[in-house]
Amino acid sequence: LTPTAIVKGVTAARIDRDEPVRQRSLRTHNLGLVLRHVAASPGPVSRADVAGATGLTKATVSTLVDELLGGGLLVEVAPPPRTGAGRPAVGLRVAAQGPAGLGLEVNVDYLAAAVLDLTGARRQHTLRRGDQRGRSPEAVLDDLAELAGDTVRAAADDGLRVVGAAVAVPGLIADGVVRLAPNLDWRDVPLAAALTDRSARVGVALDEQTLTVDNEANLAALAELHASAQPRPSFLYISGEIGAGIVLEGRLLRGARGYGGELGHVTIRPDGVPCRCGARGCLEAYANQDVLLRGAGLDPSAPADALTRLIALARAGAHPALLTLEDVGSALGVAAADVVNLLDLDTVVLGGIYAPLARWLIAPVAREITERTMTSDWAPVTVRASALGTSATVVGAAGSVVRAIRDAPAPWLPLLAG
Ligand SMILES: [Zn+2]
Repeated sequence: LTPTAIVKGVTAARIDRDEPVRQRSLRTHNLGLVLRHVAASPGPVSRADVAGATGLTKATVSTLVDELLGGGLLVEVAPPPRTGAGRPAVGLRVAAQGPAGLGLEVNVDYLAAAVLDLTGARRQHTLRRGDQRGRSPEAVLDDLAELAGDTVRAAADDGLRVVGAAVAVPGLIADGVVRLAPNLDWRDVPLAAALTDRSARVGVALDEQTLTVDNEANLAALAELHASAQPRPSFLYISGEIGAGIVLEGRLLRGARGYGGELGHVTIRPDGVPCRCGARGCLEAYANQDVLLRGAGLDPSAPADALTRLIALARAGAHPALLTLEDVGSALGVAAADVVNLLDLDTVVLGGIYAPLARWLIAPVAREITERTMTSDWAPVTVRASALGTSATVVGAAGSVVRAIRDAPAPWLPLLAG
């Protein structure tokens, strides 16, 4: 056997064991291919352009485009004025009016909702402040459904039809159930089922396809990933709840069972203070919002006002504020250095409440990483604020719905036809 024959034999064997590509999955795949190509194009593209770029026949492209037009996912744009010989082609672009994605966020200090249209533009964003700690999950979800309903109606007035939702929660999530959210004091809350029951109030038919629940840091990291100009970025995103979204070469690392990224419970002092999780010396106990605000002499019960005051104090050079920012930055840096040592990430992104404080946090975070990573001399790490600021999570949640539709439009088309 020649080497080529061996390789061919292996390939053939693999194909035999795999599922054959059926007509239906071919259509599903190609619908996504066409929609993604139009979405990625800077301007309107013709059917012939799509055929040329994807390798599909013009007839196939026309059939697929008709389906996408029928679902309102694409729109036709009038051709440019005739300049030369031949008839100018009708252009296609992703619909800015029509199907849209809803993002929802349950945070310790607020509930938030956002709507992105299919082009990824932010069309709605509402934040309702209020301490969610100690409230029953049912009461929180009633409020969340009401906020979602208001946002969906506002989006409808703006010409959008919300067809799916994603909810961000600061906790461990599996199959739509919040296993544990220590800062909310939630355990085994069937969030997807509870919100599905509230579909009428939300104004969207929620089910297993149209509703997902995910960890807040993962959704924020995905938003950061898709906002990145780099093709395959690697970074550690730190959320305000001290969750980590770890992106390695353009892919989010969720962990083997989906529970990865608990940066807040990385040990930074083995004999340190007790943590809510039951362990001692976790990062969270040295760097969370309460620690930060109390350290600066501020009242953490009104965190939004306190955060504004903290920024004012830091700008004025008040020593307690600067010292606590230095301590919190140092604690974040110690934990981030471990992650950098393990995964060789080149960037650390400060998100959530840390984003508006980045001016004071970047130096201590970067210092600890430089001192504690072996590679810092020739592979330095960039520490920066999130490009999306404090809204990264809810925008990321809405964006995950939009990407789900754009990546695999086929299962959404029957919903859109109704
Ligand atoms: Zn802990």
